[in-house]
Amino acid sequence: KLFNEIQDLRGNIRVFCRIRPFLPGQKEKKTSVEHIGENGELVVADRSKPGKEGHRLFKFNKVYGSDATQAEVYADTQPLIRSVLDGYNVCICAYGQTGSGKTYTMTGPNQATKENWGVNYRALNDLFDISQCRKGSITYEIGVQMVEIYNEQSFVCLDLHTLGIMTHSQPNGLAVPDASMHPVESTSDVIKLMGIGFKNRAVSATALNERSSRSHSVVTVHVRGKDLKTGSALIGNLHLVDLAGSERVDRSEVTGDRLKEAQHINKSLSSLGDVIFALAQKSPHVPYRNSKLTQVLQSSLGGQAKTLMFVQLNPDASSFSESLSTLKFAERVA
Ligand code: ADP
Ligand code: MG
Repeated sequence: KLFNEIQDLRGNIRVFCRIRPFLPGQKEKKTSVEHIGENGELVVADRSKPGKEGHRLFKFNKVYGSDATQAEVYADTQPLIRSVLDGYNVCICAYGQTGSGKTYTMTGPNQATKENWGVNYRALNDLFDISQCRKGSITYEIGVQMVEIYNEQSFVCLDLHTLGIMTHSQPNGLAVPDASMHPVESTSDVIKLMGIGFKNRAVSATALNERSSRSHSVVTVHVRGKDLKTGSALIGNLHLVDLAGSERVDRSEVTGDRLKEAQHINKSLSSLGDVIFALAQKSPHVPYRNSKLTQVLQSSLGGQAKTLMFVQLNPDASSFSESLSTLKFAERVA
């Protein structure tokens, strides 16, 4: 009910902006953040211009300053996560330049302490908790898959599935090859196995020139519920996406594989922007087919699906031009 109230107010697409703090040892630097308002206003400043000349105002559904905790951020995300158990499809993604805090928001700096958990661990924890509470009336099967999209190809890092769900056909349109299936029954199972998935990802990253910032990481959670009284079934799925770094690569400086990577990233991020923009405009044509990323996410973009984009900013004044292009991207879909 709560979610539907929010939905009525905001529609199916919302944008939260999060500014990461300066890192230890970085304290003396100048910030490009001028003002954060209570209603999602953000003023950034180009410090190379005098006074208010370099100020620009943006408006999002919410802006988190550098002191926002993982728990505070999740509190606003939770209604969307919970709606997955009611059969909604949800996509949550993090956009921004490399080093702006995408992985911090989605995964967290480490998984050892619960306090540090990012959206994806908190979301799974919540889904398991609520499904346990509803056990008497609805039984849920939950499956998790991790996919990396690199140069328009997808690679399965991990595939975790409840045993039961495998007897049904795949509930979403994931265009990826099958991999080994693992049963998941609790958050600790998932944390253990997601650790393996991230490691799989990290191995390929070192092998392929810090690929982690050059690829999109997609965690998909499939939920299938069965109402014990009526026998009716509901299916929801959740995509949690840590996007590739949005920084522009200087074409005069890169060639070969790096240029190809940069072009693929550009294409997929702009396709994602185009899809969300088309949905926000209620356009009859939504260009899902233009990239692997939008194809993989299609089930959770559009229709009844709910989309949340975290727009991540590095506060450093020297990152202003990247921050500005990030904000312009976000402004288009907000
Ligand atoms: P990205 O995934 O966008 O490249 P990271 O999430 O790796 O960026 O963040 C870059 C660095 O900043 C990491 O050391 C991370 O721990 C730190 N960081 C990011 N966001 C926060 C935050 N909200 N609070 C504290 N440290 C953060
Ligand atoms: Mg990252």
